[in-house]
Amino acid sequence: MLKIRNVQTYYGNIQALKNISMDVQEGEIITLIGANGAGKSTTLMTLCGVVPATSGTIEFQGRNITGMPADQIAALGISQVPEGRRIFPYLTVMENLDMGTFLRKDKDQIKQDLKNVFQMFPILADRRNQQGGTLSGGEQQMLAISRAIMSKPKLLLLDEPSLGLAPIITKRIFNIIKKINQEYKTTIFLVEQNANLALKLADRGYVMEIGAITMTDTGENLLASEAVKKAYLGM
Ligand code: ATP
Repeated sequence: MLKIRNVQTYYGNIQALKNISMDVQEGEIITLIGANGAGKSTTLMTLCGVVPATSGTIEFQGRNITGMPADQIAALGISQVPEGRRIFPYLTVMENLDMGTFLRKDKDQIKQDLKNVFQMFPILADRRNQQGGTLSGGEQQMLAISRAIMSKPKLLLLDEPSLGLAPIITKRIFNIIKKINQEYKTTIFLVEQNANLALKLADRGYVMEIGAITMTDTGENLLASEAVKKAYLGM
């Protein structure tokens, strides 16, 4: 579904991505783990066209999307939940969810998807008329994920959904990510610093160090790897 080949991304003179290549198959949950500043967010932002790749190619469903503007990439079915949620704090929960649907015209299906979202996150239904900014951190993460689901993406990019959340809330969010993958058949690209949870959830994982991919394997094998245990699992 997604084919990344030899992508390099610079911020001025700083090289953030060094020749990265990755593949994501349809229906998979992929995780990208790595330390602070390794380049994980830059990878996501490069994929969705927010930051331009300096060289290399990105193909989505057989189509070259390298250098395509972010709105066109979104219209092809790639939706991002950025780090720090970034919901619209002064809009209500309902208005935030509506923002996710602005490219869609299938009104009946939108209604059904909204029902599903409220079933997944009943708290959002209870608070539908409340301003987004008044929700707790966990609820804002739920809203950000729900807004992305409302755009009916084929590929959902999640940047550190566990950031700043209590472990019990993180667990709930991860369960929901699994559900979205299984029930909606949405392919998931998950960036996480919580390597333990991410590798347990993911079919396959990539490890990133200072802008380069250094390891890739199944989630299970990476969890068992001595190098990963030492560097990312605190063992
Ligand atoms: P974190 O988990 O802290 O977000 P990360 O793995 O997502 O880390 P990135 O945010 O992608 O890492 O950053 C990769 C490198 O690029 C870092 O060295 C960072 O300082 C640098 N960088 C990120 N954004 C910019 C920017 N806008 N301008 C200059 N350098 C940047």
